[in-house]
Amino acid sequence: MPPSGRAPTRPCADTAPARRTRAGERPLTCSGLGRAEPEGVSVDFTIPSELDALRASFATFLDREVRPLEDQLAEALRREPVGPDVQAAANSVRRRSCEAGFYAAHMPEQVGGWDLSALGMTLLVEDAARSGLALAGYALGPPNPHAPTPLLLELPEHLRDRYVAPLMRGEATMCFALTEPEAGSDAQAITTRARREGDEWVLDGMKHYITNGEDADLAIVFAVTDPDKRAQGGITALLVPREAYAVGATQLTMADSHPVELFFDGSRVPSDHVVGEVGQGFYAAMRFLNAGRAYIGAQCLGMAEWCVDQAAAHARTREAFGQPLASFQGVTFPLAESKAEIEAMRWLTYHLAWSCDEVAAERDPGDGVPLDSSVVKWFNTEYAHRIADRCLQVFGGQGLLRDGPIERVLRHLRMLRVVEGASEVQLMVIARALTGGR
Ligand SMILES: Cc1cc2nc3c(=O)[nH]c(=O)nc-3n(C[C@H](O)[C@H](O)[C@H](O)COP(=O)(O)OP(=O)(O)OC[C@H]3O[C@@H](n4cnc5c(N)ncnc54)[C@H](O)[C@@H]3O)c2cc1C
Repeated sequence: MPPSGRAPTRPCADTAPARRTRAGERPLTCSGLGRAEPEGVSVDFTIPSELDALRASFATFLDREVRPLEDQLAEALRREPVGPDVQAAANSVRRRSCEAGFYAAHMPEQVGGWDLSALGMTLLVEDAARSGLALAGYALGPPNPHAPTPLLLELPEHLRDRYVAPLMRGEATMCFALTEPEAGSDAQAITTRARREGDEWVLDGMKHYITNGEDADLAIVFAVTDPDKRAQGGITALLVPREAYAVGATQLTMADSHPVELFFDGSRVPSDHVVGEVGQGFYAAMRFLNAGRAYIGAQCLGMAEWCVDQAAAHARTREAFGQPLASFQGVTFPLAESKAEIEAMRWLTYHLAWSCDEVAAERDPGDGVPLDSSVVKWFNTEYAHRIADRCLQVFGGQGLLRDGPIERVLRHLRMLRVVEGASEVQLMVIARALTGGR
């Protein structure tokens, strides 16, 4: 029973969604790979039928609950930043999705989630993006930083009802506050300080580029608690309620995300408001970002599929020189290349999800798969962006209009090449793994 006391409307009543798997109950099996005996040699790329049922149920939810709102607000959705009407619709989508169970499906059952497998969550994130609905993103927690994160289970148990339960019900949202003006890619260079004073932590410093910082009810803030140790035991993650910090300027971007500055000027929080252990905050941040990168990969996959679907449909109907655009190889070959790249994105992404489920079954679920996450973040953001650009080209002048079908997606994808670790940072991680360098 979710914290709201309402029974969740399970998407597939007869088949519960694939939860985090234990070794031996794998959704995609690669066991015995390379063994000589035929028995036990299996590389099974089929999506489990229970996840197909989950996807069908989510598609129905999007059609019934999100599409009508999207149609109604088509004009307002083209404004940046969005107005209160769109914000109200987004809140409504979030709450309805909470009731249906999708929004916090990635969270453990102990706090009212479904403990949905990474593969299951990946498929839902892909489908939300492939729907082309701007409001669909609000129906799911990942990859949004405003949603409850498993990191919150590292709070002391007595704080969960107060802080985690409202997030699970979609009544509250949060933000993730790591980046500072002098510490972006090099996140361990943060200077926001937290010092103990009696029963409290006192924070001083500022953060910028914080998504949902203005509307969030609480922030997970990363602060230096031991300057000598920094990332190796000197950064702590603190839960800071909204009333303890000030929100500064909105930072308008070219994308559909407009983060804000946060200020901590002697902000006080009780000493038990630590997420995880004192000094271990940098590792917590990396676990959060690794998970985020995997779901950003899924979002890119869905967006790229949406763009190719739209461009192929346009090429079939739009005529030039007396023929449909689809009769010119100059138009169709870039789409064909895009399709091939999408299949590469798909299997990288699904494999990463499968690996995350394997790790969750065998080790700490938060550990993630950092190298594979970086490969997917780099590959999918870079390729999806170039696919969207090619697809926009198929629309000619119409592609450049503010209400063109691709332009919002293209701007969003451009942002994804920078946030949660820019492409160069992902290449740095991959290169280090190759060469053992720093
Ligand atoms: C819309 C938006 C939303 C955001 N949301 C959040 C949020 O919710 N929470 C949060 O904490 N942060 C958030 N961020 C911050 C984001 O994660 C950072 O912008 C990102 O990590 C890059 O940091 P930076 O902007 O300081 O760039 P810099 O670190 O200054 O880097 C500039 C460029 O140099 C490159 N570069 C840096 N170091 C190297 C290197 N060693 N080798 C090669 N190239 C390098 C980078 O890849 C980048 O292209 C958000 C940013 C934006 C724009």
